[in-house]
Amino acid sequence: LVELADVQKWYGQLHVLQDINLTVSRGEVVVVIGPSGSGKSTLCRTINRLEPVDSGRILVDGSPLPQEGKALARHRADVGMVFQSFNLFAHKTILENVTLGPIKVRKQSKAEAETRARELLERVGVAHQADKYPAQLSGGQQQRVAIARALAMEPKVMLFDEPTSALDPEMIKEVLDVMVDLAERGMTMIVVTHEMGFARTAANRVVFMADGRILETADPETFFSNPESDRAKDFLGKIL
Ligand code: ATP
Ligand code: MG
Repeated sequence: LVELADVQKWYGQLHVLQDINLTVSRGEVVVVIGPSGSGKSTLCRTINRLEPVDSGRILVDGSPLPQEGKALARHRADVGMVFQSFNLFAHKTILENVTLGPIKVRKQSKAEAETRARELLERVGVAHQADKYPAQLSGGQQQRVAIARALAMEPKVMLFDEPTSALDPEMIKEVLDVMVDLAERGMTMIVVTHEMGFARTAANRVVFMADGRILETADPETFFSNPESDRAKDFLGKIL
């Protein structure tokens, strides 16, 4: 469903993505881990074309990323994205946050979008907050709204970039529970996270990055019990 082939990206002198080859199948959950600065966020951002690449191929559902305009907007809607900071629209209600994209990009009627939004808010456990503003919600609730907002666009794949790392410990689980549920429903997911519990329970594969390269790809069981590279051993030694 998502295919990156020979992707290279530079920031000036810094070779931030080097020879990236990664294929994610429909329904697969891939967890990306690695030290700070290894290029994990950049990788996510290239899939969504928030960042251009210098060479290589990126296909989502068989198509290359459009360059610009309406086609790019539709493509972005196919690739749902959830960041560390929740990025909700502060001056719109929770319900408006979730219905805005479907109305504008997916051309849904307001009524249709609201019905679907309420279903999704129910699913992530914040249905009763629909008429509040983001600042009135806890971080965990805001992040669950951000997930509902991405899902409202009916994405083909969901990218998560450290979705729980800005949250207080007691709120992490409620967000991870929503993500596990999504994985169980068959969503294709690429998740940058240091939550190894999530990686062990929900991931089909773990991708380990360091210095802009994918150094290892393995199923979680194998990766955690038997990492191959010294970089991965060193990294796991620090976080586990
Ligand atoms: P973290 O775990 O800290 O989030 P990361 O693996 O997500 O790290 P990236 O944010 O992808 O790492 O950054 C990879 C490298 O690219 C870093 O050295 C970073 O400083 C650099 N970098 C990121 N964005 C830019 C930019 N817009 N311009 C120049 N350099 C950048
Ligand atoms: Mg990052």
